Amino acid sequence: RQGTAIITGASSGLGLATAKALAETGKWHVIMGCRDFLKASRAAKAAGMEKDSYTIVHLDLASLDSVRQFVKNVRQLEMPIDVVVCNAAVYQPTAKEPSYTADGFEMSVGVNHLGHFLLARELLSDLQSSDYPSKRLIIVGSITGNTNTLAGNVPPKANLGDLRGLAGGLNGVGSSVMIDGGEFDGAKAYKDSKVCNMLTMQEFHRRYHEETGVTFASLYPGCIATTGLFREHIPLFRLLFPPFQKYITKGYVSEDEAGKRLAQVVSDPSLTKSGVYWSWNKNSASFENQLSEEASDAEKAKKLWEISEKLVGLA
Ligand code: NDP
Repeated sequence: RQGTAIITGASSGLGLATAKALAETGKWHVIMGCRDFLKASRAAKAAGMEKDSYTIVHLDLASLDSVRQFVKNVRQLEMPIDVVVCNAAVYQPTAKEPSYTADGFEMSVGVNHLGHFLLARELLSDLQSSDYPSKRLIIVGSITGNTNTLAGNVPPKANLGDLRGLAGGLNGVGSSVMIDGGEFDGAKAYKDSKVCNMLTMQEFHRRYHEETGVTFASLYPGCIATTGLFREHIPLFRLLFPPFQKYITKGYVSEDEAGKRLAQVVSDPSLTKSGVYWSWNKNSASFENQLSEEASDAEKAKKLWEISEKLVGLA
């Protein structure tokens, strides 16, 4: 039978390219979890996706209520859930002040980590009950959270510290808005959220891989310098970043190519290993990459899991 994959943030960039790559094979139906229904519908049409290859379901990761409602709505579709891709993200490198989710969490960590944490936890039982041969939960990571790389060493570096800000609710009232308890920095908050994504994937693997048979994976698809992720950056940056990545760092990858890479992690029969952070070399071949010390710290992953559970109301 056809597989069904949920992709969050499929209205642009990597999510859209992945949805398109999967739908084109005819082997996948894509559930696009998007906060802007009209934008998603226009994007799917403009990408040339066949009408019956996708279903758009409203999802605003900046609201835990919306995440819970999304889960209910998806279940009502009565389609099996075979793969879940946590892809959506916000990046606010130039923000002077923090903004907040409906539940009062700093936006970058609230959307990129906490919204997805709740979603993934809720959908785990659906994945478990699917009869698809290779069920997968994929959380998109990034090189920028990995301080063992050059890109990850561009300041401000990711650092979750002892998680005191997160434990305090990340709300700027009784606690800091930053996970490590520091001053607000939008670029760092994004990188921190990506470390959370990679830690969460590994903690899922440790807790649930054997019991459920679900493959848990993360990836760095390459630098997709043209996506909307950089929309809040200054214009000069947006002008120079793509050629810089293309010709200087050579880390540049097109949206199409990045979509194909993520689609591989969704469906390639050779990428079934769980607990892996995938990357691609210059010849576009996938390999298991090493995570930074912090992004592979099992103690931190456990602590992050437990605090996140409390914040999203699961514990
Ligand atoms: P885009 O900005 O193009 O896509 C992000 C998507 O997330 C959009 O569809 C956006 O919706 C959605 N989104 C944002 N906030 C919410 C929300 N509150 N609820 C639901 N959806 C939301 O960026 P990319 O395609 O580049 O990013 C996709 C993933 O790839 C991210 O996880 C990012 O960290 C990762 N990544 C990107 C790299 C790059 O170089 N671009 C490199 C490494 C990783 P809308 O269309 O409505 O704005």
